[in-house]
Amino acid sequence: MSDGTPRPKVLILGGGFGGIGAARKLRKAPVDVMLVDRHDYHTFQPLLYQVATDTLDPETVGHPIRELVHGQDNLDFAQATISDIDLDARTVSFQDWEPQTYDYLVIGLGALAHFFGTPGAEEHSFPLYTLPHAIRLKEHLLRRFEAAAKDPSLADDGQLDVVIVGGGPTGVETAGALSELFHAVFPGDYPSLDLSAVRITLVEHGDRLLAMFDEGISEYTADTLRERQVTVRLGEKVAEIADDHVTLGSGETIRAGTTVWGAGLQPNPLATTLGVELVRGRVPVTEHLHLAHHPEVFVVGDLALTTDSVTGEVLPQLGSVALQAGEHVGVTIDRMERKHKDPHPFHYVDKGTMATIGRKAAVAVVPPHHITLTGRAAWAMWGAVHLALLTGGDSRMAALSNWFWSFTTHDRPSRVLIHPDDED
Ligand SMILES: Cc1cc2nc3c(=O)[nH]c(=O)nc-3n(C[C@H](O)[C@H](O)[C@H](O)COP(=O)(O)OP(=O)(O)OC[C@H]3O[C@@H](n4cnc5c(N)ncnc54)[C@H](O)[C@@H]3O)c2cc1C
Repeated sequence: MSDGTPRPKVLILGGGFGGIGAARKLRKAPVDVMLVDRHDYHTFQPLLYQVATDTLDPETVGHPIRELVHGQDNLDFAQATISDIDLDARTVSFQDWEPQTYDYLVIGLGALAHFFGTPGAEEHSFPLYTLPHAIRLKEHLLRRFEAAAKDPSLADDGQLDVVIVGGGPTGVETAGALSELFHAVFPGDYPSLDLSAVRITLVEHGDRLLAMFDEGISEYTADTLRERQVTVRLGEKVAEIADDHVTLGSGETIRAGTTVWGAGLQPNPLATTLGVELVRGRVPVTEHLHLAHHPEVFVVGDLALTTDSVTGEVLPQLGSVALQAGEHVGVTIDRMERKHKDPHPFHYVDKGTMATIGRKAAVAVVPPHHITLTGRAAWAMWGAVHLALLTGGDSRMAALSNWFWSFTTHDRPSRVLIHPDDED
């Protein structure tokens, strides 16, 4: 607790992996921390697709930020939307709060879906980057099926078909989860519908899925999805999206009542207020994770172009990178303010890369020897790692219970539509 003497103020923008990582490492630092996010919850993005496909409740994937920083006496949280960052005046402005000054600024504002100017994508597709996105997709799918239960001709018209754009982890995980939902759960819910004819198509512009892994894993992933009745289209560009179909670059159209967009990221628009030239759409930072000409301004997570100080490699936009970078910045400020020591350069510790395809099927590459795992072993590892990473003990218990229920019963516990403005 502050003794009344002015202490350096650390303003952390964003309560994602990067922001929370920084906040927690400042627990003992002789500073006053203000953490700001437009939401009062932290989103565990890796499991958004499970909200969209009815396995997990939104509350399991979105965790109250205030609870994550319970007991941290030097920290306060404000729910507010940032509108401008003025580095020269060391001031951040908000849509709904008074401007805040800082001595240190930590920016962890993440990224947004990037539609690459694809006509119709913004209006007609469902990105999967935030909790509201996941809830919108879930509701849209459930409404489509409820409508088709009343009017089966909608199924014949392809209104239950789904196209997923992008063969990275988001697209693959969503395709696998939708296949299970449509072929193992919904037949019991909608016995009047012939769901064997419903098509799920995964479209990838490159020549393989999960391009960050080796080719063997890409082939395993495509084969596993095909076995699960997902049509995999490689080397195809999506040229246009309408509300009932997708047009490929070749001119071919695929009917789809739902198009999921999992194809790319662009920086948070506030990056442009930093006056820094973006590289690969990200804000370049030094090996200490601050801006080149502003040692008091750190940028972490998806927004930053972070280079590993040991390997010299540009690090991917992953939760694990964001968390470690945020923690590193917290430690750096603590070292400078409490221990009066110089900071260390940032080195990322790779604890493994993995993606799940569905029940008993996942892929993983485990360091330090880059051992490749597929199938049940990778699936078990994926579950254990995500459970451990999930924020908050209550969220972990809820996820474990829902996963156990889904696995043993083929049921999806979260498939109801509740709206506060519904009639009583
Ligand atoms: C579907 C999906 C699956 C993924 N799966 C994995 C995975 O399996 N493993 C993995 O390691 N990574 C995964 N990732 C990537 C990982 O989630 C991101 O790299 C990570 O969330 C980035 O953290 P961050 O702190 O930079 O940003 P975010 O977590 O995006 O946090 C940014 C925060 O800033 C807030 N914010 C933004 N703008 C404003 C504003 N104007 N005012 C106030 N607040 C604002 C947001 O509300 C948000 O809380 C996945 C991502 C997605 C979308």
